[in-house]
Amino acid sequence: MAQSGWWLVMRGWKKYEVGRSIILMKKIKFGLDIAVIIFVIIGLSGCLTDNEVSSSVRSEEKFQWKLVTAWPPNLPINHDTVEKFAEDVATMSQGRLKITVYAGGELIPALQTFDAVSQGSVEMGHGAAYYWAGKIPEAQFFSTVPFGMTQNGAWAWIYGGDGLDLWQELYKPFGVVPFPLGNTGIQMGGWFNKKIEKIDDLKGLKMRIPGLGGKVLAKAGGNPVLYDASEVYSALERGVIDATEWVGPLHDVRMGLDRAAKYYYFPGWHEPGTQLELIINEEAWNSLPEDLKVIVKAAAASASLYMFGQSEVLNAEAFNLLKEKQHVEILEFPPQVLSYLSGFTEEVMLEEASNNEKFDKVLKSYQKFRDKRKDFEQVTDRAYKKALEDR
Ligand code: CA
Repeated sequence: MAQSGWWLVMRGWKKYEVGRSIILMKKIKFGLDIAVIIFVIIGLSGCLTDNEVSSSVRSEEKFQWKLVTAWPPNLPINHDTVEKFAEDVATMSQGRLKITVYAGGELIPALQTFDAVSQGSVEMGHGAAYYWAGKIPEAQFFSTVPFGMTQNGAWAWIYGGDGLDLWQELYKPFGVVPFPLGNTGIQMGGWFNKKIEKIDDLKGLKMRIPGLGGKVLAKAGGNPVLYDASEVYSALERGVIDATEWVGPLHDVRMGLDRAAKYYYFPGWHEPGTQLELIINEEAWNSLPEDLKVIVKAAAASASLYMFGQSEVLNAEAFNLLKEKQHVEILEFPPQVLSYLSGFTEEVMLEEASNNEKFDKVLKSYQKFRDKRKDFEQVTDRAYKKALEDR
């Protein structure tokens, strides 16, 4: 038996050797093909004009860039997506643009990402526009706004409408060029240590919730606060806050929030599909040859789809596990509460717009796009969802 076993191993090894030889011959042929192509290119370069020659020389320049993120080190999905983006750019550019990724705090504090890119101390950053709301309140439309469009609508506005142009116009005074890179999908409503059955239950509620969502909560009599990711769990667990939102089941359970509060609410009315962003220092961006710019844009768009896919799959898995464990109650916000919050959102939007011309301009573009899409959405997305419910 031992002998026949050995014979089988040898036969396998020979097959492996034959396979390797075929691969080697293919490699040699591929090498010759490349040599012929290079020869033809060199021959053709004699026909190029001076400008064409200089651009082909310039395009061989190598770039070594730094990218800082607004996320804690190894944050699932977010960090993986950015690493994938950097790898894709290196592969597509054949090593001409290499990007090293640094998580929040590794090079600079997470929330200084925008400033670091603006000042040029790093070439690239990854975060979400509502993190810079103190500096550019109107940029929040490019992350997410309460009761706003989901990722489908937001992507349509950004890629198909005037969203991207407006976004780039907003960041221009800061010397920053933004592109979409990733989307979390619709988030969850958050973790509460008491049931929310009517709008008055939000009165006096101390909740970690950022941006416009926080302003809406304040209208309902709540007390919005902001904590860094590293502080959220202990604040809720120790009762310093009564509630918190974070992202979705995967990130929330990893943070341990299911051990700090009993009620998990949905939907995430305040973040219906949060768009993340790639931000690039304008001077660095302008130094890139056109083909590398196209590669960066293509890799960012591809990474957006990758992140959305990862978010939907991993959150669905985490949600199913959470349901199985049955140690928390998963509850829907009552329609009356959502209706009040929607009304407060309109008030907040009007107040912000009346205090800030740029906010007003972006709000108008956003609303115009949403209105334009409304009737069509009624006969597509909404009609289809209804058809599924009615089955
Ligand atoms: Ca959130």
